[in-house]
Amino acid sequence: MALAYIGLGSNLGRSIEGQVKNSRAQLDQALDTLSSHDHISLNKLSNFYQTPAIGPGSQPDYINAVALLETQLEPLQLLDALQAIENHQGRVRTVRWGARTLDLDILLYDELVEDSERLCLPHPRMHERGFVLAPLSDIAPGLCLPNGEKIDQLLANCSMQGIVKI
Ligand code: ATP
Ligand code: CA
Ligand code: CA
Repeated sequence: MALAYIGLGSNLGRSIEGQVKNSRAQLDQALDTLSSHDHISLNKLSNFYQTPAIGPGSQPDYINAVALLETQLEPLQLLDALQAIENHQGRVRTVRWGARTLDLDILLYDELVEDSERLCLPHPRMHERGFVLAPLSDIAPGLCLPNGEKIDQLLANCSMQGIVKI
């Protein structure tokens, strides 16, 4: 069994099975799907945060959260499972960092450090993102990255401008 921290984000509603769901509902649906996966269990869930979008053009705010998963899946299998959930919820990949119904990133997978074409661990931009560090700190305040950096220290040093706990 491995422990993996996952970052969840959405800044678009989208029709799922005939029903239009907003960003918060997109995250709830993704969490339901993760919980019901045979090889994944949901151990902890952070607060939800409303976050101004980074990326091209003007985009709606994001809703962000972090979850701790326990899983029997190998890292790339977990990435496959997360991308299948993104696709199922109507994610369309057009411009990089464009608006999306659902984004599921693997932040940490045990103490693994990896830099391959499909998967970088820890997530290479997590240490500078308030919308990742704040929810991560909710559920793992004493956590250290594999390089020894402390989550709470990184959070204290990063901008929380515009980020609101909801
Ligand atoms: P960012 O990575 O800056 O948060 P993003 O989430 O918008 O940007 P995506 O378009 O969702 O980026 O993902 C691009 C690719 O990143 C994916 O196809 C995946 O193979 C790769 N990737 C590398 N490391 C990770 C990781 N730790 N978690 C999720 N995807 C990753
Ligand atoms: Ca992302
Ligand atoms: Ca992603």
